[in-house]
Amino acid sequence: MTQRFVIALIKHETNTFSPIPTPLEKFGHGQGPAFGRAARDAFEGSATPMAAFIDIAKREGAEIITPVAAESWPSAACTRATFEQLVRPLEDAVRQGCDAVFLDLHGAMVVDDCLDAEGEILRRLRRIHATVPIAVTFDYHTNLSPETVQCATVITGYKTYPHVDMYQAGQLAGEILVNAMKGRVKPVMKWGWLPIVPSIMRHAPEDGPAGAILIVARAAEQRGDVLAATLLPAFAHADTPFTGVSVVVVGDAMKPNGEANAAQVCDAMLRIAHDGKVGFSYQRTVLAESVARAKVLGDAGAKPGDVGPVLLIDHCDNCGSGGTQDVMMVVEEILRQGLDDVAIAPIRDPDAVRKMIAAGIGNNVTLQLGGNTAMPSIGLNGRPLAISGKVRTITDGEIVFRGPMYTGLKSHLGPTAVLEVSGTRGRTEIVVTSLHHEPFDLVIFRHCGIEPTKKRFIMLKSRIHYRAGFKPIARHIVDCQGEGVTSADLSAYRYRHVKADLLIA
Ligand SMILES: [Zn+2]
Repeated sequence: MTQRFVIALIKHETNTFSPIPTPLEKFGHGQGPAFGRAARDAFEGSATPMAAFIDIAKREGAEIITPVAAESWPSAACTRATFEQLVRPLEDAVRQGCDAVFLDLHGAMVVDDCLDAEGEILRRLRRIHATVPIAVTFDYHTNLSPETVQCATVITGYKTYPHVDMYQAGQLAGEILVNAMKGRVKPVMKWGWLPIVPSIMRHAPEDGPAGAILIVARAAEQRGDVLAATLLPAFAHADTPFTGVSVVVVGDAMKPNGEANAAQVCDAMLRIAHDGKVGFSYQRTVLAESVARAKVLGDAGAKPGDVGPVLLIDHCDNCGSGGTQDVMMVVEEILRQGLDDVAIAPIRDPDAVRKMIAAGIGNNVTLQLGGNTAMPSIGLNGRPLAISGKVRTITDGEIVFRGPMYTGLKSHLGPTAVLEVSGTRGRTEIVVTSLHHEPFDLVIFRHCGIEPTKKRFIMLKSRIHYRAGFKPIARHIVDCQGEGVTSADLSAYRYRHVKADLLIA
């Protein structure tokens, strides 16, 4: 008899300090969630766990049921009503009977009345079907709860930041589950949680202790000691009791020592995180000094053979972690210090886009750009920047990722316009979008006629994911500490639920 596989995606990285609301239509990256066949069509063939699950189900000849696919870029907690509209179709699909469930979840989702959305999703599915095998993939930025581990059969997560191995994480979890269903393996999970909250600026394998931990994880998987070993170094901007570094290892209880091996690998990974925790702390920097340094690097010109722009990373207002993406502090400093030939992306300001569209291409406009959003959780008000320039380009903001992250997936910036500001050596171009979008793919510039490799400077509202598309073209990279709800300086936040030590420099 044909097996029925339920495959679903419900993903939100909730920044509980973000002032940006998360209504239902924000899922689907601004197009609303997809249900049924549309959920499958939106993700099949993309570099995501959901696509890996679909590929495995197709190979197994299973009937594929995709009740929901809903991902929103990070922002504040969604409401209970929104959450129910995402979870109930999944519950209905499982209730109608299935042989396995494959879930592409984030791991840092908060609902206005629930600090552990993933735990709730799994608990509700377990209530419907106590024994159905459930595979789950999590983002690297996961705050893992005991209930989540208890209710899942297999958990894996990404081992990269930028996350360029999402498909592989899905493949790993999916294959383990299918092998378990065939009686070839018997997954057993060992996990642990450390009461430490790293700065996300210190999460990438090349920046902090995660690199050494991931070497242990990959080696254990390759040797076959364990089926999967995953580091989840927390999402610091979600204020929950589960926020902290965790490790989850899937062993094979069918093998002699399979369970003991899993426990050993889990302990080894946690020990490196614990002993190296100082490496998860972020050292504060002074904005004016960072921009001045970038200016020197850019103005010095390239050595023979050196090409590409100097990147200025406005990491404290990163929409990829819940930032408002309209804090103008770093842009203002760039203009104040007279950097020119700069491409900036993206500033979110739908009103400014409307004004630029009304003015029309080639015409001059004076704008109060950005600064539309108050950030009460960190005591900041929005501060727009008075700026004049020419409308260079107008687009519908429809993009497809061609870089290594989310390859092949469509996304939406909303109506978008480019403001061109004259400089002494070259123009500065600011990409202004209507929707939030982290710039991790060169398409953010190229879709509106800007060639990023040709600019002297590029300013990005991003934290680490920009490295997926932009690190290969960069001559130098300078982190610029401005303001915003994704500040690397965790002392900026007033936590209420966290039970772990915040790693503050
Ligand atoms: Zn992440």
